[in-house]
Amino acid sequence: MKILHRSRLAAFHLQGGRCFYCGFEMWMHLPHELIQLFGYTRRQARQLQCTAEHLVPRCEGGGDNQSNIVAACRRCNQARHKRSDPPSPERFVQIVQARLARDRWHAFQRLPAKAGQLMHLRPQVVNRQT
Ligand SMILES: [Zn+2]
Repeated sequence: MKILHRSRLAAFHLQGGRCFYCGFEMWMHLPHELIQLFGYTRRQARQLQCTAEHLVPRCEGGGDNQSNIVAACRRCNQARHKRSDPPSPERFVQIVQARLARDRWHAFQRLPAKAGQLMHLRPQVVNRQT
């Protein structure tokens, strides 16, 4: 397993399957469980695919090791790095949370999951050796 993939999996597990920035539940391999659980469309679920987010960007020398990787949904990851001067991770959490509070982040509401079913989204075994 490549180190970036391993770091992403570990971060996904550590964060309880939730995005570092928006806190939405993400999917790792297949979106269908998230679609079933929350009733998202495939298009909505695509935004919530788990990606490896480099806290220090690669272009600034950030590595793929676990200390530099958090799990973020596709939407948040792309939005941070689309900016010409990407904000720090701490600042971007504030930006995303402020916009979520005004319903201006994801183009859909977070839907309530059926209780107790989220565990199925999480990987059972995580190789934490780095
Ligand atoms: Zn997110």
